Amino acid sequence: MDRRHLLARVGGGAAALALGALFGPGLGSDRIERLPPSGDDPFSLGVASGMPAPDSVLLWTRLAPRPREPLGGLPDAPIEVHWELAEDEAFATGLRRGTVLARPEHAHSVHAEVAGLAPDRRFFYRFRAGDALSPVGRTRTAPAADAPVDRLRIVLASCQHYEQGEFALHREIADRDIDLVLFVGDYIYESSNARYRVRPHEALAPTDLAGYRQRHVTYKLDPALRAAHAAHPWVLTWDDHEVENDYAGDASRFEDRSSTDFLALRTAAYKAYFEHMPVSPRMAPVGAAMRIHEHYRWGRLADLWTLDGRQYRSTQPCNPPGRAGGRVMTSCDELADPARTMFGLAQERWLAEQLAASRSGWRLLAQGTQIAQGGMETPLGRSRFSDGWDGYPQARRRLMQTIARQAQGNVVCLGGDVHRHVVARLRADPEDERTPVVASEVVTSSLTTRGLSETATALMRRSNPDLLHARSDERGYVLLDLTPQRLGIELRATDFPVPAEARIRTQSRFVVEAGHAGPQRDG
Ligand code: FE
Ligand code: CA
Repeated sequence: MDRRHLLARVGGGAAALALGALFGPGLGSDRIERLPPSGDDPFSLGVASGMPAPDSVLLWTRLAPRPREPLGGLPDAPIEVHWELAEDEAFATGLRRGTVLARPEHAHSVHAEVAGLAPDRRFFYRFRAGDALSPVGRTRTAPAADAPVDRLRIVLASCQHYEQGEFALHREIADRDIDLVLFVGDYIYESSNARYRVRPHEALAPTDLAGYRQRHVTYKLDPALRAAHAAHPWVLTWDDHEVENDYAGDASRFEDRSSTDFLALRTAAYKAYFEHMPVSPRMAPVGAAMRIHEHYRWGRLADLWTLDGRQYRSTQPCNPPGRAGGRVMTSCDELADPARTMFGLAQERWLAEQLAASRSGWRLLAQGTQIAQGGMETPLGRSRFSDGWDGYPQARRRLMQTIARQAQGNVVCLGGDVHRHVVARLRADPEDERTPVVASEVVTSSLTTRGLSETATALMRRSNPDLLHARSDERGYVLLDLTPQRLGIELRATDFPVPAEARIRTQSRFVVEAGHAGPQRDG
């Protein structure tokens, strides 16, 4: 067994430090260092928490005193970091502490899983490295699995193109009294559109690990995003732009990017994503694979599943072989192929088993994009955008059948990606209006990224009566307020492009009554 495995097996910081002392300094990258003193704040990228469970929560930071330099300006050696978590901001009540190693192979990021906590409790946390103290973050544990729960408040958000607007919505999110932020993808954008640029990325599209790390640094250096992370635990899944626009499994949309080349890119992108997100160390990617789909539970009130619609999906239909990329189409034989999948067969099976076993009041399915039909009636026939669920009709039918088998009206699908607020009815077969409504859908608009024109969106609404609400002109996020009786939906919105001092308003409100599939207008 090499030393690194030994350290991993022994686990805890104190044991690791003892081993460090035992083996002595100077053994390559396993020499443990104290943070070198400097005038630069090692916590420039902030703090975050995530994955709240009844007895644990995940604390994240990344040491980067000079975040624009390779390894954040730190030596190629592990550095000890201490965390503290308590029930009060003065860190006096119920104080817990631990020491972990920020390892250079993970860009000195820290993913500290704090276990043995009381359920349904709010906490404050911070880190220390050398003489530096981090900002204080707030987090919480989930209620016990069998606990009756009165209320759960979630912010649903996605699509934060740094270049296309300020993160003013994150200011409001940070100030809200909520339990968690649910982020459903396009956390970074790898690409640019010069037409809508109000502030630049640090460089052109990343092509390697160093590039993706720099892209994540650009986002985390935004103080409003850091505030939203410090204020609430986050639960995350991803969409395409964390790697490359419209990718599908191992396929790129670029002709000159073979699947081998693309998987190398995906490896770099997933690794940088892991390094910068408050996710469990057990999610650390292995090569090009990273499992992000996960089950969360909020007592007896709600089950929440995060789903991965990118890593395991079939390529978009009627593309050249092995090529990804979405386009608008009116017909394509491959649409009827039942072997095509959005989640991959293993994840589909997992979700079906999870849903069948669920006993909670609400069942929330969080995934990347809009499930309800979004095509438009045109003189040439009905259009479909092949990157969305409209391009995966057989997989969509299977998903809806899995949901319909429960037939309790308590499944609510949550998505992002399309840069519009959408509230919709979901039918047993979304392409057949004679089939019953079996679930509800809420899709959040983007936090910053530009949407479709209102002319196109109006045609989309007219073409799809199950879209109870669809607006592309405003940026925003969604506040979900769950009680055992109802699930409130408040669509918050502001103009595009979003300025730093945006005026944010409520675009519309809907409600899903328990046991009654399909949202209704609320007031
Ligand atoms: Fe997006
Ligand atoms: Ca997307």
